Amino acid sequence: MKLLVPVKRVVDYNVKVRVKADNTGVETANVKMSMNPFDEIAVEEAVRLKEKGVASEIVAVSAGPSAAQEQIRTALAMGADRGILVEHDGVLEPLVVAKILKALVAKEAPQLVLMGKQAIDDDMNATGQMLAALLGWPQGTFASKVEVANGEATVTREVDGGLETVTLKLPAVVTADLRLNEPRYASLPNIMKARKKPIEVVKPAELGVDPAPRLTVLRVEEPPKRQAGAKVASVQELVEKLRNEAKVI
Ligand code: AMP
Repeated sequence: MKLLVPVKRVVDYNVKVRVKADNTGVETANVKMSMNPFDEIAVEEAVRLKEKGVASEIVAVSAGPSAAQEQIRTALAMGADRGILVEHDGVLEPLVVAKILKALVAKEAPQLVLMGKQAIDDDMNATGQMLAALLGWPQGTFASKVEVANGEATVTREVDGGLETVTLKLPAVVTADLRLNEPRYASLPNIMKARKKPIEVVKPAELGVDPAPRLTVLRVEEPPKRQAGAKVASVQELVEKLRNEAKVI
């Protein structure tokens, strides 16, 4: 069984994101970039499925600039077999990425697309759902457990009220939530081995996809600064402040 695992290049989660001076977006020049954390979880799950003998091949795919090959290499060092870079400089909206992935699904015929639930840069939480809709495939989103057997994926989902378990007929799309697993660190020998694994480079147009954005970003701003908190000596003082200063009771 072949797995397709999309991995996005994003600003590292440890970086304090800064808005560009002209308010057109966030600063990405000279900023540490990494694989989207939820995609690391998806890669880990794919590698575990391969180690269990359920999956036979893992293809990691990223849509983005040439530098996104770094994130594909990370996936290869974790255990993916080969990579595909869909090279494009500039914004790629979820619908465009979903169309790119759909075209790659047609080419690669995976039984499962295992991806992150959300990219931490734009927090869209849309690409997996859009891909499932475009393909007409079942989807298991926010997965905290995935089991694959007998042509089905059983997915435990984290929903507001607790956990929901669904079974999906393969082929299907599954998106990973935080508690699915803890991704491994790639070992040095595996990082070296990953250098020899192949990465194919294609352009969106070669897949028949127009990458032009449909949304216009008007302005990006920092959230308002939070005011410093204060300690109160007693419940009485707290009530007094809530009533007279904050005027919330
Ligand atoms: P989003 O809908 O943007 O929050 O992203 C959800 C998931 O879609 C991510 O966790 C990735 O697995 C995948 N994805 C989004 N954009 C890209 C991209 N440019 N390249 C590869 N995968 C992507």
